[in-house]
Formats: sequence, structure tokens, C-alpha cells
Amino acid sequence: MSNTLDLTKELISRKSVTPEDAGCQQLIAERLSKIGFKIENLQYGEVKNLWATIGNSGPLFVFLGHTDVVPTGPIENWESDPFVATEKGNLLVGRGTADMKSSVAAFITSIEAFLEDQPTLTGRIGVLLTSDEEGPAIDGVTKVIDYLEEKNEKITWCLVGEPTSDKSLGDVIKIGRRGSVSAKINIIGTQGHVAYPERANNPIHSFAAPLSELSQLIWKDETGEFQDSALQISNINAGTGATNVIPGNLILDLNVRYSPSTSVEMIQTDIESIIKKYNIDYEIHWDIGGKPFLTLEKELIDAIGESIHEITGSSPKCTTNGGTSDGRFVAPTGAQVVELGPGNASIHKVNESVKIEDLENLFKIYKKILSKLLTTD
Ligand SMILES: [Zn+2]
Repeated sequence: MSNTLDLTKELISRKSVTPEDAGCQQLIAERLSKIGFKIENLQYGEVKNLWATIGNSGPLFVFLGHTDVVPTGPIENWESDPFVATEKGNLLVGRGTADMKSSVAAFITSIEAFLEDQPTLTGRIGVLLTSDEEGPAIDGVTKVIDYLEEKNEKITWCLVGEPTSDKSLGDVIKIGRRGSVSAKINIIGTQGHVAYPERANNPIHSFAAPLSELSQLIWKDETGEFQDSALQISNINAGTGATNVIPGNLILDLNVRYSPSTSVEMIQTDIESIIKKYNIDYEIHWDIGGKPFLTLEKELIDAIGESIHEITGSSPKCTTNGGTSDGRFVAPTGAQVVELGPGNASIHKVNESVKIEDLENLFKIYKKILSKLLTTD
């Protein structure tokens, strides 16, 4: 019988589709309050957040995670009820098993087991949970961080439980994430009859050359830890549907995932200077997403790497690829931020699952990390 498996199952049974928390945080708050944590429920809009801490002084270690899950899609596509954690062979199947209720369960069981050994703490432990990671992430961790900054509460080390593992538990950890910036561009032409092009201005034609230049934009990564940043066009639309009409405008969406070597301003300048060169009439609307981050200090990375090695026998690869995570809100405060969680092959899919044996090992790894960072022996 595994404590972590039991708690994971309990959390899966709560239908916490973003921004719902469905009682997950209350269950966790009860467990943490029982072992002496101070609990703060921070609700912003319809989003529930939990901030729980224990300890009096010293560096602050925080487990960061989310209790919300993405929608299931058509239930009939699932082999079992997505909100009943079901054991199938060596797998536990259910929505949120990998992303990320098993990590949240392992946060709690590892803290309980660690404190039960009555260690002499050299620092403090915090747990930060939100129910708005998979959604717009406006009333979640970013607001809690503002609140903590106001109280002058500084996080030293932050372990994010997002599913990072690839082939086996702990083979990959994330020490940074790329930033994201999007733009919607409206290329303005003049509508007309295809037989009278001299009376119209075809935005498809005028944008052909800048489009080709834009698609080749690359921003080099200088940190050595990220891929170079490439511009990607995700949507392009023009035309009325009629074959004898020159369209009046062309609308295009683009996105750049960028490393800390590049700034939003640099990306904006490079893109707009290409369009301006061609004397095109245009409008552009920018959407600035998460900022990039990179943890280079070794304390947290080493504590995690050594703990993984002691439990699994192998060492993790440090990467920075993939989408964004809530770590982006914590890193700007100066905290060291590293992500470690179970396998991510099935996240957001039907029949999402984790390996059952990984739950116990994740618990053991998290517990070791606590003892390496927060005790002297
Ligand atoms: Zn997640």
C-alpha cells in the first residue's frame, strides 16, 4: 500500500477541470495543517490558490504545482472513467495522473515522511498550489508571487512538479523555459476585380516577399542551454472565397519561443523592420506571453540530480525545451527553479497515465531533496 498512490487516487476523483479545484486544495491543506503547516487560502477571481509554510527561519524551499487538469474530451474515447484512477497492469490511468496530481501527492507524502523523521531543519518548506495553470494563468501563481513579494517573502529554491521525465523517471529535468511572444498582423490592401489589378492592391502579393524573409528569422541563443529562437507562422488568411476578387487584406498570426539571450523588444524591432522595408500598410497587435528563465546556480540542480541518482541509479539530463510553466513567475524573484515530475508521454491525451512504480520513486526522490537542502547531515 502506497500513501502516494492513495493520495493520487483521491485527487483524481475530484473533477478539477480548469479553473475548478474541486476540493483538492482543501484536502491537501488538511493534511499539511495536521503536521504544523500555516495555511493561507488565496482566492483571486474564481481561482483558488494555496500557500502553506512550515519552519521559522533560513532558506525557503517550495514545491510548486497545480490541482487543475485539462478537459477530458469525449469520455467515450477513454478506456475507463477519467475521474476514477484505474490500475491497468503497471499503469495508473486517469485525467491528471501525469499532469500533475501524482507530483502533488508526492509533494505531500514526501513532506510528511521527511518531518516524521524529526530532522533539525536548517530552512523552511512551502507548498504553492494553483487551480489555474492550464487556463489563462492570470489569477494563479503570478498573483500569489505578487502577494509574497509584498510580504517580502523570498523563495530560495522552487521545485516545480510538472511532468518532465521522458523514457524513465528522472531522466530529464528542466532548468529553464523559453519565453513566448505572439503577434497578429493585418496587411492592408485594396479590394478589387482580378481583371483590373491596376485599380486594386493585392495584400497577398505585397506580403509575399516579407513573408519569405520573416520565415527565415532566427535569434541565436548565447547561453548554450537553449535552442535558437525561430519565428513560426501559425495562421494566414486572405481572400473572400470568390476567385474573381482581389482581397482587401491579409491576416497572419505568428509566434516566437525565445531564449534569455533575446528580448521581446529585439523580436519586435526585427519583425517590424522587415515589414516596414516594403512600404506596406499594416497593423500589428502584440501578445507578450511568459518570460524565459534559466537557473544556472548549482545548489538545487545538484540536490535534485544526486537524489535522482541515489534512487534510480542514473543522472538526469538538464533541458529547457517544451512549453511554458508556472516556474516563469517564480524565477524573476531570484529563486532557483527546477522542474522534476513523472513521464510526460500521455499528458493532455485520452487515457493519461503514470507508471505506478514511479509514484513511490518520485516520493523517495522528493524526500531526499528535502533532506539534502534542509538538514545538515
Ligand atoms: Zn501541468
